[in-house]
Amino acid sequence: MDVEVIIKKLKEEKPYLKSPLELYEKVLTFNKNCKKILEKETQNSLLNKIIDEFSGLFEIPYEFASFLKSSIINSGKDPFKEPRSILELPVSEEEVSREEISRALFILSKPFFARYRETLKEKKKFEETGKCGVCGAHVSLTMIDEENRRHMVCTVCGHKEEIFRIGCSYCMQKVCEKIDLLVDEDEIRVELCKDCKTYIKSFKDEVYQKYKDPYLIDIISMPLDVVAQERGYIRRSPNIIGIKEIV
Ligand SMILES: [Zn+2]
Ligand SMILES: [Zn+2]
Repeated sequence: MDVEVIIKKLKEEKPYLKSPLELYEKVLTFNKNCKKILEKETQNSLLNKIIDEFSGLFEIPYEFASFLKSSIINSGKDPFKEPRSILELPVSEEEVSREEISRALFILSKPFFARYRETLKEKKKFEETGKCGVCGAHVSLTMIDEENRRHMVCTVCGHKEEIFRIGCSYCMQKVCEKIDLLVDEDEIRVELCKDCKTYIKSFKDEVYQKYKDPYLIDIISMPLDVVAQERGYIRRSPNIIGIKEIV
C-alpha cells in the first residue's frame, strides 16, 4: 500500500488526527513537486519556483510570498548552502503568530535541506556531536531494524544514521535504568531520559512495515508527545510538520 492510501485510511480511523494528517499530505506533495523542480530547473529560478509551489499549496497570500523571497535574498545567505538560514528569517507579521510562521518556514525549508543533504560531501558522525551529522538538529525520532539496530531519522533534513541502541541521544548517557518507557497501542514508544528530561521516539520494524513512513509514525503517535510533555519531558526537534511543543 502507498503512503497516500495509508494516510487516507488513517484519517478515517483516527479522526482526531485529521488536521495534522492533512497537513502532512500537503508536505508530501510539496516535497515531491520540489524534487522535480530541483531536478529540472536552473539554479537561478529554483528559489522562485519553490516559493511559488509553496504559496500555491499552502495558500500563502501573494504579498507574503514575495516578502519571503526578498527576505531570503536580502539575508545574503544561499539557502541551498545554509538551509538553516530559512528557519532564522527575521519575519514578523501582525496577523500571524510567531509559532505559525516558524512552522511555515520549517516546511518551506524542506527542499533546501534535501538539496543540502544530497550535495554535502563530508558528514559528521552522530557519535562525534550527538546531533544530526548533516544539519545539526537534535534527534527526536529513531527506528529499530530487524537486527535490533537503532537508526536516527532526522525530521529536519531527512538524514538517517545508525546510533547506539540504548541510551539518550541528547545527554548521551547509556544507562538502561535511567530510561523510562511509554508505549501506545501501535507499539510506538517514547523513551524518557530521567537525567536530562529529553524524550525520543522509537519503533520496531513491524511498525515500520505497517505504515512505511517514519515521519507518519511520528505524527500518528502525537498523543504520546502530549503524555510525555505533560510529564515535563522535552522534545528537542519538531516533527515533520513543524510541531515541537504540544502542551
Ligand atoms: Zn538533519
Ligand atoms: Zn538524557
